[in-house]
Amino acid sequence: MLEQLRRIVQEVNAVEDLQQALDLIVNRVRSSLEAQVCSVYLFDVDLNSHVLLASEGLNKAAVGHVSLATGQGLVGQVARNAEPVNLEDAASHRNYFYIKETGEELFHGFLGVPIIHHRTVLGVLVVQRKERRRFDESEEAFLITLSAQLAGVIASAEATEAIGGISLSGHRISDTVFAGISGAPGVAIGQAVVVFPKADLSQVPVRNARNVDQEIAFFQRSLNEVRKDMRALHASLAGKVAEEERQLFNVYVHMLNDDALGNEVVGMIRQGNWAQGALAHVASEHIRNFESMPDSYLRERAVDIRDLCSRVLFYLQEGEDVKTEYYDGTILVSDELTPAMLAEVPPEKLRGLVSIKGSGNSHVAILARTMGIPTVMGAVDLPINLLDGKEVILDGYKGEIIGNPSEPVIERYTNTIREQDELIAGLLEIKDLPCETTDNHLVNLWVNTGLRSDVAQSLEQGAEGVGLFRTEVPFLLSERFPSEQEQTDIYREQLQAFAPKLVTMRTLDVGGDKVLSYFPIEEENPFLGWRGIRLTLDHPEIFTAQIRAMIRASAGLENLQIMLPMISNINEVNAAMRLIKRAHHELVQEGVDARFPPVGVMIELPAAVYQTRALARLVDFISVGSNDLTQYLLAVDRNNPRVASLYSAYHPAVLHALSHIVREASEEGKQVCICGEMAGDPGAAILLMAMGFDILSMNAAALLKVKSVIRSICLVTAQELLDQVMQLEDAEEIRRAIDLALFEAGVDRLLRSTRTS
Ligand code: PEP
Ligand code: MG
Repeated sequence: MLEQLRRIVQEVNAVEDLQQALDLIVNRVRSSLEAQVCSVYLFDVDLNSHVLLASEGLNKAAVGHVSLATGQGLVGQVARNAEPVNLEDAASHRNYFYIKETGEELFHGFLGVPIIHHRTVLGVLVVQRKERRRFDESEEAFLITLSAQLAGVIASAEATEAIGGISLSGHRISDTVFAGISGAPGVAIGQAVVVFPKADLSQVPVRNARNVDQEIAFFQRSLNEVRKDMRALHASLAGKVAEEERQLFNVYVHMLNDDALGNEVVGMIRQGNWAQGALAHVASEHIRNFESMPDSYLRERAVDIRDLCSRVLFYLQEGEDVKTEYYDGTILVSDELTPAMLAEVPPEKLRGLVSIKGSGNSHVAILARTMGIPTVMGAVDLPINLLDGKEVILDGYKGEIIGNPSEPVIERYTNTIREQDELIAGLLEIKDLPCETTDNHLVNLWVNTGLRSDVAQSLEQGAEGVGLFRTEVPFLLSERFPSEQEQTDIYREQLQAFAPKLVTMRTLDVGGDKVLSYFPIEEENPFLGWRGIRLTLDHPEIFTAQIRAMIRASAGLENLQIMLPMISNINEVNAAMRLIKRAHHELVQEGVDARFPPVGVMIELPAAVYQTRALARLVDFISVGSNDLTQYLLAVDRNNPRVASLYSAYHPAVLHALSHIVREASEEGKQVCICGEMAGDPGAAILLMAMGFDILSMNAAALLKVKSVIRSICLVTAQELLDQVMQLEDAEEIRRAIDLALFEAGVDRLLRSTRTS
């Protein structure tokens, strides 16, 4: 049975479009279960009904024409309850709904299972038989397993049709919503520019050829290069490997010949596709065909095709240095956005960002928030390859992308953009006013930085200090470890720009989702692995060079603070302190006149929460990294869109941990700051102020928003709100209570968490 399942899934994966996939499913399932009928009904948003889209056994003329309204019939029951219905005699069930056109009166035994993708019921898979007999347990289990495996394929095929503007029932549709996760707030309307990593066939977008003849010439040249490589390999391996294996390289050369793969690619280019897209398309068809072959030897050949075509792609990309063209209103889309991709877009053209991978607290989302660019993360169902050049709306508040937007929807979002611009312009008026509550309680608002461009923006927004300088950002944008001198220059620039305000520099925090291309770390569980201080203590040469650079940069300015990330025990702090002291001592001996900087510890792990006092005794200040603290307390990978709905800094466990940290640090008389993204959320900032955090440090784009909210509330109200929410047991309830308080304080809807665009 496992083999049957595997085969069906593989075959379905190999087909081109939704209809072919559904036809194949009904055909294979009917014969596997020896049923007389197998049908698929999918929910059509446009018709608000379940439409019969494929069937083996029912009247073919009914396919595409018969539908059941939501909740209607047995299909409606399966979909509504999201659970299987298995009956001996369908017609005698009270929910049975007879549709004359299908001819189903002949069948009695009925089994319907829901097709569910990300908690949404996409449709129902039904098998029927003539006998009055229930399907047995193993048959039911087979259908459930199959349905669960096919749901993703069906969802992605549906999304492909939808981005083309066609509904399941073949009507033209607009305003198709693709759900993701909010990465950075704000709305943007623009044209998608898909960026993709090199030499990855699966990520090449569909694009038109600018010049067909030139594209064909590029392609032929690249083919020739690969042919040459293959012949060279064939020759160089003579006598070194079995002759049979060596001959494989000749087979490859044949595959590339004009009458095989090469010809197909040229044909597609002639139809108007660019060479990379044509190659990727032809390759994926062949790969899928080979992968679905029953013979394991032939299945393995899929790997050869992928390898061969990737080589051709490499030459195409090398030779045809295609410059990415950014539209004036670019919505940058990628499978996995990186800081380098963001850095390449001219800032005046960049309106929005979309990443298929990652989640709201991935580091690239944090970067986007800092830059104030509306962002959607984890848009897993977005058909990225078909998106290049298309107009889309990006709703960074809700975390949605809208394809084929209609005029009324564009108008509605244009209004929101106007409102947004007015709000931001209005906020600038308070930049020089103090951050104080209506009852004159002052709050220190600092910024988190990383990019060079953050400096000007932070100062413009009236930042009073830097609570977190993410030193890993220059490391991530470099191609090797930056030297001590290079680091000194970067740090000096930061310290000088903010002097005499304090700048808190965090020692290198890589690992997890921050991977240095020149220092790759392969781990099963990177967020529980070699991250932050763990890595740098194992590489004291890297740690010491960084500390030396920081201290050298601070000479004469004396506004440096050093902060240690990912601390889980006191030994790490002691070890780091020893290295910092040694580095300072050496520098003094070398004649550098710099004071010993205050050192602090980040509380980001549950273990550290319970050691706050012990840690506080060893250092000068405490800073809470609520992004990681939330991730580790709730056991929710901050980077994984599947579990993003579970990630909430309003979870009572997080709030109680924060309040505990503030109390403990204050007992030791140490200053306590929070530099996680939570501090930049206006609602959360109110709670943090009430808890007693001395400093709230956030991305520059959030600074004035938080200031405006703090200026509209009084400390007593904030403390009452805190008392109230600390009694609540659910994150959503807490969020609503905060929202209500902000509403009552007259806070603009775009600054609250429940917004309607
Ligand atoms: C945090 O974890 O809250 C934090 C500020 O550090 P980062 O987001 O860089 O891990
Ligand atoms: Mg962290």
